[in-house]
Amino acid sequence: GLSKHFRVAGGPLGVRTAGHVRAVDDVSFRIGAGQTLALVGESGCGKTTISRLMLRLESPTTGTVTLAGRDVHRLDRTGVRWFRRKVQAVFQDPWASLSPRMRVGDIVAEPLVVNERLPRARVRERVAAIMDRVGLQPWQAKLYPHEFSGGQRQRIALASALITEPDLVVLDEPVSALDVSVQAQVMNLLKDIQTERGTSFLLISHDLASVRYIAHRVAVMYLGQIVEEGPADELYDNPRHPYTRALFDAILPAHPDDRRPGTDAADEVPSPLNPPDGCRFRTRCPHAMDVCGQPPPRTALDRGGSVACHLYPAEAGLTKGPVRE
Ligand code: SF4
Repeated sequence: GLSKHFRVAGGPLGVRTAGHVRAVDDVSFRIGAGQTLALVGESGCGKTTISRLMLRLESPTTGTVTLAGRDVHRLDRTGVRWFRRKVQAVFQDPWASLSPRMRVGDIVAEPLVVNERLPRARVRERVAAIMDRVGLQPWQAKLYPHEFSGGQRQRIALASALITEPDLVVLDEPVSALDVSVQAQVMNLLKDIQTERGTSFLLISHDLASVRYIAHRVAVMYLGQIVEEGPADELYDNPRHPYTRALFDAILPAHPDDRRPGTDAADEVPSPLNPPDGCRFRTRCPHAMDVCGQPPPRTALDRGGSVACHLYPAEAGLTKGPVRE
């Protein structure tokens, strides 16, 4: 039941208006141990706001984020230290996330030093071990980030995220700034580490091929809501929601840089300040009907997961395909 609304002010020609951007609106999901859940959708659909809520960088307007049964936004000081060991993040740009003035060994050690009181020798051992695990040489700990390639810098960021042995790592576009050949190496490394350690990942990505490769489950977001969710292979092989189909058919690009020139303005995403009533996709949906002015039911699918669309009425129970198209 997670929601995050941002108050905004603005308006044309100096006319001040105010409103709320419903960046995340009544979203629910669960990530199992050792599982990867991917959030996909166009820019501005709320993926990054969800990751910030899960990292405690934002507080929810309503709803909760729980880790091992604890509400992560209601932790005391000891609880916050526990959270910081259990949840880490890797971001898109390894340049921005690594301090240029710190030696790599200190960058990797920082989450451990801040959140656990260990003797220096033990910290050095843990740094050497995790650097070795992500494919870096332990002697490279004395170098600075600018002495590494982009792929190596992302390995440094990963080592720093993994050194506290977290239960969950939020991966926000972790390979999109890397060369294609390096992307595959980093994705394989993530998969191997997950198998070894049982780490859970929340993956935010516009790269649908990477998502299929690494994710166990996928949640498709549109204008702050999850419109379809389910096991990755099933969802890719048989997408149900018209928005999911458009996204996977590349009719709608997940990333604005992929938008084809000459795209009709009517195809633009409506403003989250004033989203359409009922189904938020109805202004772009080829199947829109009168009933789509009402919020669609969330219908469980026989393959697992769910879809929120009037093509799949809730009273039909578990559905194998569209009830009407
Ligand atoms: Fe299209 Fe209606 Fe389904 Fe929305 S509810 S995706 S408008 S058919």
